[in-house]
Amino acid sequence: MALEFDNRYARDFPSLYSAQEPMGFAEPQLVVANDALVAELGLAEEQERLADWFGGRLPLPGAQPLAQKYTGHQFGVYNPMLGDGRGLLLGEVKDGQGGFWDLHLKGAGPTPYARGGDGRAVLRSCIREFLASEALHHLGIPTTRALCVVAGELPVQREHVERGAMLTRVARTHIRFGHFEHCFHRGLGEELKGLMDYVIERHWPDLQGQPAKVFFERVVHKTARMVALWQAYGFAHGVMNTDNFSILGDTFDFGPYGFLDDYQPGFVCNHSDHSGRYAFDAQPSIALWNLNCLAMALSPLIASDDLVAALKQFQPALAGHYLKTMGRRLGLCEVSGQDAPLINELLALLADEAQDYNLAFRWLGEARQDDKLIPCRDHYVDRARFDAWAERYLARLRLQDVGDQGRQLAMNDANPLYVLRNYLAQNAIAAAEQGDFSEVRRLYGLLQNPFTDQPGMAAYAQKAPDWGKRLEVSCSS
Ligand code: AMP
Ligand code: MG
Repeated sequence: MALEFDNRYARDFPSLYSAQEPMGFAEPQLVVANDALVAELGLAEEQERLADWFGGRLPLPGAQPLAQKYTGHQFGVYNPMLGDGRGLLLGEVKDGQGGFWDLHLKGAGPTPYARGGDGRAVLRSCIREFLASEALHHLGIPTTRALCVVAGELPVQREHVERGAMLTRVARTHIRFGHFEHCFHRGLGEELKGLMDYVIERHWPDLQGQPAKVFFERVVHKTARMVALWQAYGFAHGVMNTDNFSILGDTFDFGPYGFLDDYQPGFVCNHSDHSGRYAFDAQPSIALWNLNCLAMALSPLIASDDLVAALKQFQPALAGHYLKTMGRRLGLCEVSGQDAPLINELLALLADEAQDYNLAFRWLGEARQDDKLIPCRDHYVDRARFDAWAERYLARLRLQDVGDQGRQLAMNDANPLYVLRNYLAQNAIAAAEQGDFSEVRRLYGLLQNPFTDQPGMAAYAQKAPDWGKRLEVSCSS
């Protein structure tokens, strides 16, 4: 079955892109494919063509490849020179439900926005994006998706010579905050409004006919929810530049990201981020900072009082989503602000003891209301402190009308057993670089069901070994 394209971006925004054909691999090799997404897009019968289409050797029928122009704030500084330097929007594909998916090929050669870069992506970073976006998706965190990774024969120079690859990203949209910033700073008023209308018509049709401020409010709320879920599950994005922020509030552009192993609120996953601008605990305030940039860009369309009022909704929206998710993680049926001290004291204990963030919640599922002690106390150094917290937690659990078993099942559905730990990704990448893709596929399989105990996979449900926590992720990609 062929994909059904409707390439409205190409049609409507000629001033916001450069048409560009992919520079394909001569010998593309499929590393991993997302079977569910392949099927959802109607490509199940086309398995043997995936490497050729998404390794750029053969043109994808219906695609209209182009490099998008956008700008953005990188580490707080406006950069007018940005755009897809090595990524191409292949086009917008209709799904069976009347929705659209952007297909985007990353690593297909330099574009007019490459700024001297080689336009390529390395196998390591493509695997990292593939695994992370699927891991987040299956945790219920809004994110772009990944269709497949295709390795090529090209050597690519980074800190070392690495193998080149391409990632096909599938996203509801590739419109970034930076698209609006470009239009604003260049005085492209018609395009600015056109982009907003395009996003509304394609993705938020319920906003049609409403004042423009409602659009910005929607972006604020979606962004708040995304970041609240990052904080609740311990995801550090690493490069929260405004060109890496999707207008739909989907996690976007995976570079040197990291999932927390030990709970370290100040964790900086990006080793080039010397000031810690994008530290884990700074993410909410940076997201708000990015929304301020977007507000400025939308100021020709929305009155400043309305922009300010919408920005003020960010903090309460984020706190609400965070509290709700942390409540689920603790097995609380109804959570309120009164539960915040219970959550915060647990987090302080996890931080002081450098406990594994995600496993700590999974272990709490073993709590039994009639017992004084929770078995996972043995993991803690300061048992008296843990027991004192546990006493309050158990008292809180007794206030609700749920049995231990039901609560544990609900908690297991909120607390992943399998997390995309850096060292697990690294093991899979090391094998892939030797030509063995089985570990990438195994890890991907596991992360599709992060909450369910899977036979024979106990080794993947353990804390990271010390060497694994110390791994430095290269931010070159
Ligand atoms: P990123 O840090 O991946 O979000 O990239 C920031 C900007 O640099 C984007 O405009 C990318 O398209 C561009 N870029 C990153 N790596 C390359 C590369 N190897 N060649 C060309 N452009 C690149
Ligand atoms: Mg980017």
